[in-house]
Amino acid sequence: MTEGILDGKLALVAGVANKRSIAWAIAQALHGAGARLAFTYQGDRLEDSVRKLAETVGSDVVVPCDVSSDESIEAAFDQLGERLGGLDILAHSIAFAPAESFEGRFIDTSRHAFVTALEISAYSMVAMARSAEPLMAPRGGGAMVTLTYMASERAFPKYNVMAAAKAALECSVRYLAYELGPEQIRVNAISAGPVRTLAAKGIPGFDQMEAVIEARSPLQRNIEAGDVGNAALYLCSPLASMVTGTTLYVDSGYHAMGM
Ligand code: NAP
Repeated sequence: MTEGILDGKLALVAGVANKRSIAWAIAQALHGAGARLAFTYQGDRLEDSVRKLAETVGSDVVVPCDVSSDESIEAAFDQLGERLGGLDILAHSIAFAPAESFEGRFIDTSRHAFVTALEISAYSMVAMARSAEPLMAPRGGGAMVTLTYMASERAFPKYNVMAAAKAALECSVRYLAYELGPEQIRVNAISAGPVRTLAAKGIPGFDQMEAVIEARSPLQRNIEAGDVGNAALYLCSPLASMVTGTTLYVDSGYHAMGM
């Protein structure tokens, strides 16, 4: 149904750590629709595994990008500009908070943990959007998508400072959508239900989150990474050509429930 819908489109997927990553599900969905893919990875530790995954979707454009460094982001987009000649799609699937911030009380969040979580998980989207804009605008526009979680709106025990970071990320999406709209660049977020990934391992009570979805969500079953990939494909495709500045829930409908 969506085969060929992204033919000729150039897409950057940031945040693949392994085959369980939500970013990898997004990459597969975009690839299936015909997009040419590029990837960024953080640090040498991940280079080999990301390159191997990239090969399976016909990509050899794999560049380092540590979003804690402006120089690293700028160097990555310089390389991408040279190798691809432009960009149509940016999928941002990156988050980090120090492990201890998920253990104690939110009120005890250190200044360092707060700054780090917001820098890596929210500011990185702003910085990457800024670097992507000059690659997208000359092509007549583009689409950006990022990943968030409903703890930004309601208290989820132990999600703590990452919830504050997700709130900042969602707010940033609205401002980016407003500012980039005149260039026909759309910016949206996907609020995903729990998915078993590397990042999810660090969240205490993750099993309970999954159990609650099964027990109380309208669809009574947990989502899979592929469901997020499909939603990202929709948001990055012409099917969503008039959709920007929004948060799309892929959470079995749990956000609609009062209890
Ligand atoms: P994941 O596979 O661990 O992906 C997280 C990615 O962020 C990793 O590739 C990680 O690289 C990268 N990252 C962290 N710090 C970075 C930095 N300084 N520079 C560049 N990259 C950095 O986990 P995931 O669950 O797919 O997470 C992807 C996104 O989905 C995150 O925004 C997460 O909050 C969001 N999300 C996840 C769920 C869920 O239940 N899994 C639900 C809702 C939203 P390293 O491995 O090298 O650190």
